[in-house]
Amino acid sequence: MSAKLLDGKALAGKIKEGLKKEIEELKSKNIVPSLTAVQVGENPASAVYVRNQKKSCEEMGVNYRLEQLEGGISEDDLVKFIEKLNKDDKVNGIILQMPLPSQIDARKVQKMIVPDKDVEGMNPANMGMLVYGCPNLAPCTALGALELLKSSGVELKGKEVTIVGHSEIVGKPITLLLLESLTESPTPTVCHIATGDLAFHTKRADILIVAAGKAGLIKGDMIKEGAIVIDIGINRVPLLDEQGKPVMNDKGKPKKKTVGDVIFDEAVEKASYISPVPGGVGPLTVTMLISNTVKACKLQN
Ligand code: NAD
Repeated sequence: MSAKLLDGKALAGKIKEGLKKEIEELKSKNIVPSLTAVQVGENPASAVYVRNQKKSCEEMGVNYRLEQLEGGISEDDLVKFIEKLNKDDKVNGIILQMPLPSQIDARKVQKMIVPDKDVEGMNPANMGMLVYGCPNLAPCTALGALELLKSSGVELKGKEVTIVGHSEIVGKPITLLLLESLTESPTPTVCHIATGDLAFHTKRADILIVAAGKAGLIKGDMIKEGAIVIDIGINRVPLLDEQGKPVMNDKGKPKKKTVGDVIFDEAVEKASYISPVPGGVGPLTVTMLISNTVKACKLQN
């Protein structure tokens, strides 16, 4: 079997078209959705994410503001800053860029974002709504991964789903979103670093969702014939030439490429559908951030 690709970029484009209409409708009522990102100190990884957010917001007609705070800020001052944003009517969504410096307890600060502006879905109140089966604002990557899965047209009811990874931001919310329906939900199994026999669980999955951050973790022989594979992992690994030697850049440093957690060339022979990395879940994460911002804006108006 050669799997069909689940094209995240194309799906993101479709979702954005629908969101543009919602944004135009809000604008006709003089309401412009706005997203404020809070970045503490400098970090190259979050700088890339911030650039993508800004670009997508501009493209969609969402106001984007970046609040760059100095790396030495105290936790109390950061909490006060968030409280100020909570009260600001011009701010519909707040995103706290990770990582934060070591003097800050990320969870404590994240809790301070009011639930209706928590576009990352990390506030305990929003997490609680996931447990209730009525999501308010849910984590963007989890939403994006499920949109991509649903774009395959698969009926979820009755399916065995294995999720590899149980983080608060990806694995757990995916599991809870899959359990949203009382009568139509599939049957999720959650694996993690302490799972004894990972292959046992992946091999019996009709749908395999992987978010571990480990390149090469899922090999072809760990996948059931005809399964749907959603690879969320993002890993930077050395680019190798045909002899298996690292390819160097102009500065004599090894060139890198982005891969997922699944060995794509092997998985593509077993799966019925597969999401590539890059170009799978990635483009949907930022799209879902815009979607959550629009939703937050509506909740507040
Ligand atoms: P995390 O480090 O918080 O969690 C990793 C999870 O994988 C944990 O539950 C851990 O127990 C599990 N795990 C690690 N090694 C394992 C192993 N050998 N076997 C089984 N389970 C294992 O990471 P995260 O924030 O959930 O992100 C996971 C991956 O998804 C990363 O590669 C990250 O870059 C990527 N990610 C992608 C997007 C996107 O937009 N596509 C967004 C968020 C995260």
